[in-house]
Amino acid sequence: MVFDIVLKGGHVIDPKNGIDEVKDIGIQGGKIAAVDAGLPVEGTGKVVDVGGLYVTPGLVDIHIHAYATPGNPDQWAGDNSILPDGFSFRTGVTTMVDTGSAGWRNFADFRERVIDRCQTRLFALINIAGTGMTDIAHEQNPHDMDTDKTSGMARDHEDVVVGIKTAHYIGPEWISVDRTIEAAAKADTRTMIDFGFFKKERPYYELLTQKLRPGDISTHVFRGPTPWFDAQGKVLPYLHQARERGVILDVGHGAGSFCFRNAVPAVAQGFYPDSISTDLHVLCMNMGMLDMTTTMSKFLVLGMPLYEVIRTSTVNPAEEIGHPELGHLSVGAVADVAVLNQMEGSFGYADSFGGRISGDKRLHCELTVMGGRVVYDWNGRAGVDYAELGDNYGIRSGESRIMPPA
Ligand SMILES: [Zn+2]
Repeated sequence: MVFDIVLKGGHVIDPKNGIDEVKDIGIQGGKIAAVDAGLPVEGTGKVVDVGGLYVTPGLVDIHIHAYATPGNPDQWAGDNSILPDGFSFRTGVTTMVDTGSAGWRNFADFRERVIDRCQTRLFALINIAGTGMTDIAHEQNPHDMDTDKTSGMARDHEDVVVGIKTAHYIGPEWISVDRTIEAAAKADTRTMIDFGFFKKERPYYELLTQKLRPGDISTHVFRGPTPWFDAQGKVLPYLHQARERGVILDVGHGAGSFCFRNAVPAVAQGFYPDSISTDLHVLCMNMGMLDMTTTMSKFLVLGMPLYEVIRTSTVNPAEEIGHPELGHLSVGAVADVAVLNQMEGSFGYADSFGGRISGDKRLHCELTVMGGRVVYDWNGRAGVDYAELGDNYGIRSGESRIMPPA
């Protein structure tokens, strides 16, 4: 077998297939063609040495905000969106999910301007509020939470829509949650719930144990007001019950939703999130959250095994959004691959509120492959020594190098 690319000598972690050892990855035609030790490299287009590094499925971040649409200020998301390609590949992420930046009124615009134009594989949840996150006030308006229009839009764009979202709801009623579940049921899809402002009239434990259906996602699970522990400091039974019911507990770090006070004891007790996600937007891209590999590193230094950190950043989130074809390195799967360096040293991490921990590990993305193409290469590993390229490299066909008269 002849490969387009071989990633040689890395430690492969592929939880879907139970792989946790040094193997080569052979890529051909944009797909994973072989995963084995000592793959033959004769005739291979490009052999990339990834010895000493971890090779994982392309990371899947199911909570980001990407409706940044310069040129259309009436519709763009007020939720401080970013454009995906500037953040995804450099952190090993090949698949992202925009979580409700657009609603049914502006989803087609979002799709045309961002989803269909970015290189990152971008899916979306549609906000139950008609114009999505254009402003927080709008997300409070129950008169524009139209379950028929929202579910219709989800069905019309079912190739990219993976669910319905509500966020930032302030009022004491359940209406935003109820309408979101209703719209999702009509479109035969899942919800992701940002529970907004925690109110005594609608307790979070009721959301998890009564409202949400199996497969529905509660994001921001480590928020400050989330009740996590009993008087003895043990994880409360309702969280175990929610998980047994099939409710998904997602990180959604963001600028106000990740608190070490909750995460540290939970992870210490072996209660891990189902998926690690960033809630990437402009308010957390430079402080606290930073990026996907930093968010993963936090769980690593809290004591979550690397294998589980990779599981909750690849196969788990892919399956949670109904895309089981992603998040693993099975032969025949699309060749989305992240190459990560687990650095040893002295590092510090901040949560969303300036709480800090220190740790001796940090994950750093070295190289990213998407659909069989190298899309990020921090150390130029996919390049070759320039001196081997001869005298004419760098000159495109049709160009001439005309020497000045002697
Ligand atoms: Zn968010």
